[in-house]
Amino acid sequence: MKLVFATHNPNKLKEVKLLLPKHIKLVSLTDIGCNKEIPETAATLEGNAQLKADFVTEHYGYPCFADDTGLLVEALNGAPGVHTARYAGEQKNALDNIDKLLGQLKNEANREAQFKTVIALNLEGQRQLFIGTVKGVITERMQGTKGFGYDPIFKPNGHNGTFAELPLTTKNKISHRGIAIQKLITHLKK
Ligand code: IMP
Repeated sequence: MKLVFATHNPNKLKEVKLLLPKHIKLVSLTDIGCNKEIPETAATLEGNAQLKADFVTEHYGYPCFADDTGLLVEALNGAPGVHTARYAGEQKNALDNIDKLLGQLKNEANREAQFKTVIALNLEGQRQLFIGTVKGVITERMQGTKGFGYDPIFKPNGHNGTFAELPLTTKNKISHRGIAIQKLITHLKK
């Protein structure tokens, strides 16, 4: 069976491909000739993930799954949320986003936050959501050089370092995306 992962990111595709049963042929948007950035105009992570999966199923006719991730900060009432990638502007720059978030949390005692990934799967006429979350705190300053995005300022609960200080294998086991992907894979193996 051919299954589309609605992403242009070859690293994301590779990561999931390794975990899937052999009968599933995982392909990317590029592989099916879709070179568009599918607009993410919904008000929630669930809505955006579903919108992307539906776009592929409706325009290309393939079963598909899509993901959307956000960082939800308690003291900011869940911001940046759906705006996580573009928090400091359309340039989607990680350092600008971090600077903005640390600025917003200056002198704020409540540093609690969570990452949330939603995966929307359209398969055999059914739509399903798989959700992964990881709770932690936003540090006062950047720590570590691994990873991407907000990793240097997110310290998952129960760990001494930020995501940018932890080995990638550890991050993948406990991360929002790792958990959502594992739920998807368990479902696809059924
Ligand atoms: P996306 O939905 O996977 O594109 O994620 C949206 C944005 O969330 C990214 O541009 C990053 O800024 C941030 N993000 C997603 N996953 C992570 C992560 O594992 N660590 C740090 N930042 C992340």
